[in-house]
Amino acid sequence: QVVSVKKALDGSIAPDTKVEVRGWVRTRRDSKAGISFVNVTDGSTFDPIQVVAPNTLPNYEKEVLHLTAGASVVCRGTLVKSQGKGQSFEVQAEEVKVLGFVDDPDTYPIQPKQHTLEFLREVAHLRPRTNTFGAITRVRHVAAQAVHRFFHEEGFFWVNTPIITASDAEGAGQMFRVSTLDAVNPPRTDGGKIDWGKDFFGKEAYLTVSGQLNVEAYCLALSKVYTFGPTFRAENSNTTRHLAEFWMIEPELAFADLNEDANLAERFLKYVFKAVLNECGPDMKFFEERQQKGVIERMEKFINSSFERIDYTDAIEILKKAKKKFDYAPEWGNDLQTEHERYLTEEHVGRPVVVMNYPEKIKAFYMRLNEDGRTVAAMDVLAPGIGEIIGGSQREERLDMLDKRMVQFGLKPEHYQWYRDLRRYGSVPHAGFGLGFERLIVYMCGLQNIRDAIPYPRVPGSAQF
Ligand code: ATP
Ligand code: MG
Ligand code: MG
Ligand code: MG
Repeated sequence: QVVSVKKALDGSIAPDTKVEVRGWVRTRRDSKAGISFVNVTDGSTFDPIQVVAPNTLPNYEKEVLHLTAGASVVCRGTLVKSQGKGQSFEVQAEEVKVLGFVDDPDTYPIQPKQHTLEFLREVAHLRPRTNTFGAITRVRHVAAQAVHRFFHEEGFFWVNTPIITASDAEGAGQMFRVSTLDAVNPPRTDGGKIDWGKDFFGKEAYLTVSGQLNVEAYCLALSKVYTFGPTFRAENSNTTRHLAEFWMIEPELAFADLNEDANLAERFLKYVFKAVLNECGPDMKFFEERQQKGVIERMEKFINSSFERIDYTDAIEILKKAKKKFDYAPEWGNDLQTEHERYLTEEHVGRPVVVMNYPEKIKAFYMRLNEDGRTVAAMDVLAPGIGEIIGGSQREERLDMLDKRMVQFGLKPEHYQWYRDLRRYGSVPHAGFGLGFERLIVYMCGLQNIRDAIPYPRVPGSAQF
């Protein structure tokens, strides 16, 4: 019976069953009595399983004694209750077949010790073999599944929005341009001028910076929809919070205002956190011990508290009255800085905060103008320990107002005919938000740098493969 390490360890298989476990060696220890203890992991769960290999195995001297971290093995034997503390089950091996040795253990970068995350970024193809990246990968998977399950249970449909798009102003200046190689005159690299071709079949095209405008069209037909896919921004600064390629979750809700949008964001975050705490126990315990003390408690507190809602204008007053000295003085009309956001959520209320109704000048053209004429129905969800994790808004559903705001932002309404149509044919109030999936991973795993929250980080100067 072939079993995963997870299954072998979880008690669901009766002791004394014959099993086959396949995986990679983490450590090997040899006893004087002629027995080797080989810890094998297959990534299915945090802990490795101990394989007990006696010197009566025919390949004991020639192979088992040469196993090093990273070697791949197939072990057959009997699953038994383990005597060692902290271990539930082990395999008494009758056969240890080596599929692949590590050809130079001295240069194999993943040693059985704690590596720095900086170092591991240099070996992106091997870092999944570490405890840390195994755990991050499993958390990422469970969180992604929970995202889909949440929306499914709430009656949302998943809509795949395009990756190749026309310029849509949001984040203009942060867009990657797409070009086609000219097949007739392929680019020359022999010192001649490189011709990078003709854009997207003769038209300008860019990688998406947000699926929102597209998802709005589906919202105004299917009522509740979301997109969850890769998003690209040419972030030219090196920060610990920005990637050039990240995954964004963008729900859109029809017949809804900003308050309902905030309710949705709150239910959503709590749902995903709960799923990860329930399903990733050993991984979360590892993050708690090795990455950041208090991450589990932080998530539990998050789940059990109701979000505080603060008007932007009140937030500015709170910040102005604060005893704290900020690098940037808070001023009505300016966006909140991360230091302001963290003060509000961590020091002022001590739980998540939704800041609502920002000055219209600093927010996007599609956000709904409030009755006061100087703020829009925009919100940011701030989490203790990180600041903004969600940005959202009620969208401007009135055509005349939308046109006015486009012109004000220097955009040409005629470039947005399809988007304007949505306001011409059965317009309804609607709202939505955007959440960077990796920001959520950073938060849950207690990471310091967003580059560790995605398998292959894309940032200026990163390894490209
Ligand atoms: P920030 O102020 O942090 O740059 P933003 O206001 O530019 O974020 P939005 O346009 O509001 O971001 O996008 C919605 C969400 O997408 C953000 O709340 C954040 O979670 C995430 N996000 C934005 N840019 C990035 C990025 N470069 N890498 C990873 N996540 C991002
Ligand atoms: Mg930004
Ligand atoms: Mg922001
Ligand atoms: Mg934002």
